[in-house]
Amino acid sequence: MERQGDNRRNVRNWILTGAAIGFAALAVVVCLLLRPKTGAADRFVIRYGDGESLTVPAWETRTIVIRDGKLADEANGEGAENVIHIENGEAWMEQANCPHKECVKQGVLNAETVQSRPLGTWIVCAPHQVYIEYAGGVE
Ligand SMILES: [Zn+2]
Repeated sequence: MERQGDNRRNVRNWILTGAAIGFAALAVVVCLLLRPKTGAADRFVIRYGDGESLTVPAWETRTIVIRDGKLADEANGEGAENVIHIENGEAWMEQANCPHKECVKQGVLNAETVQSRPLGTWIVCAPHQVYIEYAGGVE
């Protein structure tokens, strides 16, 4: 009888231990998920041209013009042109002269919108092969 009581206690201890470990693991996962995704490490990577890329910290205020696959000083509406704006942790395609302006319609990339945008962390201008990627939440 006593032995059976011990077994039962053992089983109960195992269950409690398992529950504690499970709970701790869950707490870690929740913490990781809730960890703020914005921070100094956030940045946008702009890809264009023949494998070129430009990384801009998300908190810089910057306008980037890409014309015919190359960085340009300012927009003049010639060639295949995209104007990207970055400010306060957000990036968007301000202007483009691609046929349907899908990239402009894709709206704003930031730590929140990447959770629900159809293209996730990307703004894509397929005709001009210009891509903006949100690369936030990286240590
Ligand atoms: Zn476009």
